[in-house]
Amino acid sequence: MATEKVIIIGSGPAGWAAAIYTARAELAPLVLEGAITETNRMAGTLPLGQLNLTTEVENYPGFPAGDMAPYLDNALPGPVRALMPPHSHHGISGPELMELMRQQAKNFGTRVVTDDVVEVDFSRRPFTLRTLGKHTYSAEAVIVATGARANYLGLESEDAYKNRGVSACAVCDGALPRFRNRPLVVVGGGDSAVEEATYLSKFASRVHLVHRRDTLRASKIMAERLHANRKIKPEWNHQLTEVLGDDTGVNGVKLTSTVDGSTRQVEAAGVFLAIGHTPNTAFLGGQLELTEKNYIRWTVPFRTNTSVEGVFAAGDVADDYYRQAITAAGSGCQSALDAERWLSHCGH
Ligand SMILES: Cc1cc2nc3c(=O)[nH]c(=O)nc-3n(C[C@H](O)[C@H](O)[C@H](O)COP(=O)(O)OP(=O)(O)OC[C@H]3O[C@@H](n4cnc5c(N)ncnc54)[C@H](O)[C@@H]3O)c2cc1C
Repeated sequence: MATEKVIIIGSGPAGWAAAIYTARAELAPLVLEGAITETNRMAGTLPLGQLNLTTEVENYPGFPAGDMAPYLDNALPGPVRALMPPHSHHGISGPELMELMRQQAKNFGTRVVTDDVVEVDFSRRPFTLRTLGKHTYSAEAVIVATGARANYLGLESEDAYKNRGVSACAVCDGALPRFRNRPLVVVGGGDSAVEEATYLSKFASRVHLVHRRDTLRASKIMAERLHANRKIKPEWNHQLTEVLGDDTGVNGVKLTSTVDGSTRQVEAAGVFLAIGHTPNTAFLGGQLELTEKNYIRWTVPFRTNTSVEGVFAAGDVADDYYRQAITAAGSGCQSALDAERWLSHCGH
């Protein structure tokens, strides 16, 4: 088995940015992009990452609204392009952006394997990685860019309206025209739920914050911010039990009281889940130091180093704060530069 200089695990913006930089630095990266399995489909962890699950992306610099179709025809191989939905003229879509990143990495010689890493051995160098497809890979340096998946309630109706009013990212989707001056629902009771509700209150006519208890888990300062915001209406002691809608998307929700089981309907053009994220770190088997929320811990300030020398982490798998495509791509770039300098320091 030949030893790779660098293997990148993961295929979101962080992974492809790391691949572009390491490929251009002549490190001949290998990307293990994830497997196409029913388990990954259900978990939202298919190759190309979280952005591949969304429609319009309006905040990734360099892609204003316009007719991208001729460029996509030109930049992507025919068979890939043929599988993509028609371009919306609105800006770039998540799947388009991710296919372009993947292709850009391939243009510089990145090799891509469609498989999940299921086990790692970081106890000695070169490092060893085992995949679902029962292949073993060896590498001097590893960049982990496996992302974090948004948690959903698991309702069938929620799944049916994803991208048609149901979202897990207010910063990403809140400014879309469909939500402006309309009532919205946020589900959750922690700091991020209050943050999402506060952010959405800039665009919405009203934000219903649905929480199954009668007090927030959020910090005191966030709770005060919530109470001071007259556009946010807490719906204490309620659970969202059904997303309602029609062909055009979400038009309401059904709430069920956690006190007496009674139900009522609330009008809403959108539902934003703010019930946390799950970082994709289980396959590491505890070999990297994690935070209390199971994200990979960056061990050197402003660097992408992890607790194991030669293993770097990039994107949402280590960042539970910014969680944006541009920040993930930025830390992918950092991880590539960190890996390249470390490899060169080691004489590779
Ligand atoms: C609905 C939604 C809309 C969004 N909209 C926007 C937006 O408009 N603008 C924006 O900037 N951000 C948006 N985001 C956030 C953005 O998608 C993420 O911040 C970004 O994708 C994180 O990139 P990443 O590379 O760290 O990880 P991810 O994009 O999560 O990619 C990681 C991928 O790695 C692969 N992987 C995981 N485990 C393994 C393994 N064991 N082996 C091999 N491969 C593995 C999987 O394919 C996984 O999907 C949105 C997120 C969601 C959920």
